[in-house]
Amino acid sequence: MKSPYFKEEHELFRQSVRQFMDKEVVPYIDQWENDRKMPRSIWTKLGQMGYLGVSHPEEYGGSEGDFFYSVVFLEELARVGSGGFSAAISVHQYMAVAHIAEAGSEFLKTTYLSPSISGEKIGALAVSEPNAGSNVGGMLTTAKKDGNEFVINGSKTFITNGVYSDFITVAAKTKNGISLIVVDGNSKGLTRTKLDKMGWHCSDTGELAFDEVRVPEKNLIGQEGKGFYYIMESFQLERLVAGIMSVAGAARAMEVTLQYMQERSAFGRPINKFQVLRHRFADLAAEIESAKQFTYHTSWLFSQGASAVKACSMVKLLTSELAKKASDVCLQSYGGYGFMEEYPAARWYRDVRAGTIVGGTSEIMREIIAKMVIDEVSYDSPYKETEKAPLQMTAREIIASIPDRFKAEKANGDQLVFHFDISGANGGQYTVNIAEGKCLLNEGFEGTPNCVVTATDEVYQDVELGRKSPESAIMSGQIQVSDLGAMMQFARLFKRIK
Ligand SMILES: Cc1cc2nc3c(=O)[nH]c(=O)nc-3n(C[C@H](O)[C@H](O)[C@H](O)COP(=O)(O)OP(=O)(O)OC[C@H]3O[C@@H](n4cnc5c(N)ncnc54)[C@H](O)[C@@H]3O)c2cc1C
Repeated sequence: MKSPYFKEEHELFRQSVRQFMDKEVVPYIDQWENDRKMPRSIWTKLGQMGYLGVSHPEEYGGSEGDFFYSVVFLEELARVGSGGFSAAISVHQYMAVAHIAEAGSEFLKTTYLSPSISGEKIGALAVSEPNAGSNVGGMLTTAKKDGNEFVINGSKTFITNGVYSDFITVAAKTKNGISLIVVDGNSKGLTRTKLDKMGWHCSDTGELAFDEVRVPEKNLIGQEGKGFYYIMESFQLERLVAGIMSVAGAARAMEVTLQYMQERSAFGRPINKFQVLRHRFADLAAEIESAKQFTYHTSWLFSQGASAVKACSMVKLLTSELAKKASDVCLQSYGGYGFMEEYPAARWYRDVRAGTIVGGTSEIMREIIAKMVIDEVSYDSPYKETEKAPLQMTAREIIASIPDRFKAEKANGDQLVFHFDISGANGGQYTVNIAEGKCLLNEGFEGTPNCVVTATDEVYQDVELGRKSPESAIMSGQIQVSDLGAMMQFARLFKRIK
């Protein structure tokens, strides 16, 4: 079906990418799957064609195309029919390198972005940990400052390109929150182990151990302590990218299966004449088409600069679940051949299984969507923030009310020290100390805090008075919270301001 989002130049670009994939990738992909590895040469070939810099700035070698060039590129990647291949390339361009392009310094851009666009360097993004996948805020890896270096300790797991990459964008806890730091693949103290997995065979998925890994301070991406917000923001692109590839992969699987059904006969006629199969594919075609059009609409929203949390989460949920269903329907239509490695259906079936897990599971997508449609939580501010009501309490008055709002009966032996660093005319520095069922408030900073909350007086006031959602303030970086787990524990101990 035609779409108003694609112009002639996008279609020309599609032809060129498809020709490239048909010549340079499709004939070799089975071999790479068997080898459990892609050759370095494919990265440089993709780089020479400009395909690794579709969305990146021209000054670093990218082509800075509008977002629909990326849509085309990702659709053609998925058409190859190897989840491993599309994951490796898309994680490199749209996750590992995207953070550097978005918030990296000139040094990081020349050292890592330019060679990533040319295909000379491969990147990975390491957020997930053995005990913190869905719960990003629960990560334990630390990066402590020592002179002009960070010293990283901890571990990461399930990292795409984790073993063969030249650099890794690592999320780690620093003094005031999570930060993103670029780590060279050959750093001393970094151990990388390849994981054995059910699909995505040609891509490497790694477990990384950091033992006193020293990284220059200049490898920090953007501001220290803002990594959590960068990750939350980039989730929208990551989920949209996953959605575009899921639906394109499902469409391609259907196309190939329909060809097979035309050629395969049973009971004296082609199997595509059996009504039960025809109806099954009519349903699938309708679902794929509607998911595709919704994905294009979300791509347009995203290209307009909207954060589109709701739409991106819906796209990720719908398309990854649909791709799972499509691979099952297609495999069934191949009969016994569907179970054989010689035919493509087995790989489709294996590879789509990761789709409902990576980049946020289907359950997490449903949680986000439910919060938005049921609890009316908004992550899409500043567009939807409510009008400012007349001031009721200043930030200082709100802080002063903390001990009165303390729910001692909920404190169950909790021991927490919170530092509030509120800037502005109505701000100040305060310590809230919870111990033995009591809550004490003092001016200035005392003791070692479990959590530091940093905001302007206006933002703090808006959040406390219910004019701004805490989630959106945190996600946009307007409020910085050094430990989200401690913050949640703290929040349940206080009555809200009426
Ligand atoms: C092939 C592959 C490649 C990957 N690549 C990368 C990568 O490049 N970089 C990276 O950082 N990570 C990567 N990941 C990790 C991936 O993002 C995580 O696996 C994913 O976020 C889930 O985390 P988890 O595995 O720890 O599961 P858990 O968080 O332990 O979840 C286990 C189950 O509990 C459910 N669950 C958890 N919390 C809730 C909740 N609040 N409500 C309802 N259900 C919940 C989950 O949905 C899931 O079903 C990759 C994973 C795979 C499999």
